[in-house]
Amino acid sequence: MRQGISKFDDLVACFEKLPGVGKKSALKYAYHVSLVDSFSGLNLAHSIEDAVSFLKRCQKCGALSENEICDICADLDRDRSLICLVESPKDLLVLEQSKVYNGLYFVLDDVNNEIVEKLRLAIKENGTSEVIFALTPGINSDGIMLYIEDKLQDFNLHFSKIAQGIPTGVSLDNVDMLSLMKAMSSRMDT
Ligand SMILES: [Zn+2]
Repeated sequence: MRQGISKFDDLVACFEKLPGVGKKSALKYAYHVSLVDSFSGLNLAHSIEDAVSFLKRCQKCGALSENEICDICADLDRDRSLICLVESPKDLLVLEQSKVYNGLYFVLDDVNNEIVEKLRLAIKENGTSEVIFALTPGINSDGIMLYIEDKLQDFNLHFSKIAQGIPTGVSLDNVDMLSLMKAMSSRMDT
């Protein structure tokens, strides 16, 4: 058995499990945080521990939050007549960065009865008038939109989608900010 640096190997293996990190980068990161700048390394370890133990999902919209209800849902200055449907909490962060939208969000995660019920509740609570789909364009998203519209047809809602400038099959976090802002401000009917 090889002696000595199994702890280093473990660290490399941890980095390698992260999305988009290959063997070479994993080695570089492990070397950096354990030897080049161990202060940053410890900071990183603490930040990860904090984030993992304190971050949860907002009970209303599914966003990442430190509280039961996220800052967006709790913010009375947001336009409550708008609700924007996204596929993941990550997409929500991308849209928030663009600062072009001031309504509420709802994270779909998976499309099932439970999620639909939660969404219906949010719409009732907020008196929503427009539902905006901000999904990755594609066959799958067309199906999701049809399904959701059908499930919400007893409400008096306007449905729109952000689409212009966003290529089919490209996830929101790979779309440049300008295209995203254009897509949100010139959204169209479904
Ligand atoms: Zn929320």
